Amino acid sequence: MHLSDGFGRSFKYLRFSVTEACNFRCSYCLPDGYRKCAGPQPLNLDEIRRAATAFSQLGIHKIRLTGGEPTIRKDFDTIVRTIAQLPQVEKLALTTNGYRLAERAGDWFGAGIRGLNVSLDSLDPGRFHQITGHNRCNDILRGIDTALEAGFEQVKINAVYMKGINDQELDAYIKLAQSKPLSVRFIELMETGDHASFFQKHHIPTDNISAKLAQEGWTPKLKAADAGPAKDYVHPDYKGSIGLIAPYAKDFCKSCNRLRFSSLGKLHLCLFGEFGVPLRALLQSDDQLEELKERLLVAVKGKTAHHQLANGVTGHTSNLSSIGG
Ligand code: SAM
Ligand code: SF4
Repeated sequence: MHLSDGFGRSFKYLRFSVTEACNFRCSYCLPDGYRKCAGPQPLNLDEIRRAATAFSQLGIHKIRLTGGEPTIRKDFDTIVRTIAQLPQVEKLALTTNGYRLAERAGDWFGAGIRGLNVSLDSLDPGRFHQITGHNRCNDILRGIDTALEAGFEQVKINAVYMKGINDQELDAYIKLAQSKPLSVRFIELMETGDHASFFQKHHIPTDNISAKLAQEGWTPKLKAADAGPAKDYVHPDYKGSIGLIAPYAKDFCKSCNRLRFSSLGKLHLCLFGEFGVPLRALLQSDDQLEELKERLLVAVKGKTAHHQLANGVTGHTSNLSSIGG
């Protein structure tokens, strides 16, 4: 029994958001900071364990913890250890804003995290402060070095590429990949419900980056059959690589290999879909495992062929902190 949809795509990768809350105020995501509203609490440890168990028994081999900022949860290390010990989970990964990386990278590696994506939208401390509301650029760069020393074989750096904000920093980012095993990935800014005007002002396609890379001797890396939608480039003089994530590109969704589960227990078939499938009621006891798996198998068949972003349809997603990017 494996999770697959009606368009020949099968799913081995789950992004699991463990909280909507975040301590940063990134201008394209939560510019006014996270505001707690009355409503359900995020999934507790048992609910998370049950959901991860069901997914892993349906062929999910890789789980990425995301958020909000996943590492602000007090039980974050226990969540990591709980999921890492599921026999079918081959790789447990984390996407983080990196604010605790310098202090915690070793503990997280020890608990079982093996893939690490760190968001870093500027290499200039002042600009980083303006984008995120926090003066932590140098701490995060230090955290990335600590993570490499702690045993992470590669660290991915995610930068949302924004016109008039960080688009003049390309050379500095590319240089980061020169002597360290870093994969620097430029993510095209995506339109979300809350930020239409920010998007209009700062969206820029990544085409000029691919042209620059070609001119400078970078070549596209061959994609594994089950690789996701990022396009990676390598260069003989660089230890790391450069990746481009261009969700508006034609055929982006064809290689979609991921599902998303929210911190409120909803299955999201697409980042830009409508409401998620609510499954929290099936996370209340270990006896519900088989029913949950049945529901997941059926729900995934409803995944659509592609998103409608190019037509300005952003779905129900008001910002990406609610389902984790
Ligand atoms: N707080 C963590 C972090 O920032 O890495 C994890 C959650 S964050 C929502 C996950 C990723 O989504 C980050 O790399 C962030 O830059 C990206 N992201 C958020 N909003 C975005 C948008 N509108 N367009 C493109 N990427 C976005
Ligand atoms: Fe927080 Fe990540 Fe959103 Fe920035 S991108 S506000 S760090 S959830």
